[in-house]
Amino acid sequence: MTPFFSALCWLSVYLVLVLAPLFVLLTGSVPAGSGFWWDFSMALGFTGMAMMGVQFFLTARFRHVSAPFGIDIIYYFHRYLALMAFGLIFLHFLIIRIDNVEALGVINPLQASWYMTAGRASLMLFALLIITSLWRKPLRIHYDEWRMLHIGLAVAAFLLALGHIEGVGYYIDAPAKRWLWSGYTLFWVLLIVYVRLIKPWQMHHRPYRVTEVRQERSNSWTLALEPDGHEGMRFKPGQFAWLTLRESPWHVKEHPFSFSSSAARQDRLEFTIKELGDFTRTIKETQIGEIAYLDGPYGAFSVDRYRGAPGFVFIAGGVGAAPIVSILSTLADRHEHRPLWFIYSNNCWEDVIFREALETLKERLDLRLIHVLAEPPTGWKGETGFITQALLRKALPSDMKKYEYFLCGPKPMSDAVQQELHTLQVPLGKVHFELFDMV
Ligand SMILES: Cc1cc2nc3c(=O)[nH]c(=O)nc-3n(C[C@H](O)[C@H](O)[C@H](O)COP(=O)(O)OP(=O)(O)OC[C@H]3O[C@@H](n4cnc5c(N)ncnc54)[C@H](O)[C@@H]3O)c2cc1C
Repeated sequence: MTPFFSALCWLSVYLVLVLAPLFVLLTGSVPAGSGFWWDFSMALGFTGMAMMGVQFFLTARFRHVSAPFGIDIIYYFHRYLALMAFGLIFLHFLIIRIDNVEALGVINPLQASWYMTAGRASLMLFALLIITSLWRKPLRIHYDEWRMLHIGLAVAAFLLALGHIEGVGYYIDAPAKRWLWSGYTLFWVLLIVYVRLIKPWQMHHRPYRVTEVRQERSNSWTLALEPDGHEGMRFKPGQFAWLTLRESPWHVKEHPFSFSSSAARQDRLEFTIKELGDFTRTIKETQIGEIAYLDGPYGAFSVDRYRGAPGFVFIAGGVGAAPIVSILSTLADRHEHRPLWFIYSNNCWEDVIFREALETLKERLDLRLIHVLAEPPTGWKGETGFITQALLRKALPSDMKKYEYFLCGPKPMSDAVQQELHTLQVPLGKVHFELFDMV
């Protein structure tokens, strides 16, 4: 199945999962209702809840689901759908608040029915979930703590909302409907069990051992891992995996890194990691023989999705070259003959990670390597400054529109280069990018 049809199928599954409960609840005998606004508010509540339930499915990292889109797109989808779902649930509350305030009962939890308190608490937790996710950085919440908070809030808000629906019992009092809603609930609970318990257990049984920690330029380190008692991981060049070091897989302290080694070797996996924060600064302390766990491979940033392309153009900045080096090494191992361009932007010559490896790859491939330095050393004869339209025109052939483009680097660079390519009339569908940031 092509990625397009696969994507279409998953979108249909999504719509069915969200809308089916609503239609089933409206079949057969339904309560008399209290007018349009009341019924509309109920429909909004059920749809919002079904959407919130599917959120767990979206972040469960099922490879077949994420493959046609790329997991970064799935996370964006997750974020915007959460906003929509929250909007629907809030409207559900607001309409009743305006149209039928006495149905809400008293606010004091000591006097109110437990299920109405559960509904109100759920709404507040959902709001907190959204606020801490949208404004994590300004609120200065560390990523790892945010992740724990996010999971805790999501599960608590969701269970409270389910309690609210069960307690109110409106629309789900017929046995068949109660079964359907209970089945849905069970499905979501099993999903949480799978993601938080079973999947880590599977990772625990497929450990990797650190076999090398190599210093690279620009405060970066390459970590080599070998499978311990299993055949390793088959991945597509350009993909990434979530790495857990010095923790059990049940701790949600994993970090995503692109493979920087050739996909032709699944028995030795390499990741090149730049020191940036709490976790990445400890990579250099990793001991040979230490156990690591991997969840992957993920990502749609791969030349293997465009096997018929006449050639490829890669554009990266700094450690963004990691997936590109994996792609180039794989292509070299596959004796690739198609023309390739790699425009690699760095601050200064001493910052250029993979410098020697790229020279070796140049000898094995039909590769034009263009280094661009923001602060060039004296006597530098190569390109300088930023990747501009003029530079792209000069570096790339006149038929540049027919190639597939892969960009990986800081967001400002990625945005600027996408804009330049757009101006140069490179079709949008031919430009693929990976951002080293998910939230
Ligand atoms: C698809 C993908 C591929 C990546 N590949 C590479 C690579 O090959 N080499 C490389 O050096 N870096 C890569 N990164 C970036 C790397 O994951 C982060 O630099 C690292 O997780 C930062 O962790 P920290 O604790 O050191 O920094 P912190 O100071 O804790 O975090 C800095 C920022 O990194 C992001 N981040 C932190 N932890 C996570 C996490 N667990 N999951 C997602 N984002 C997180 C957050 O936006 C955070 O604000 C990649 C990121 C993504 C999303």
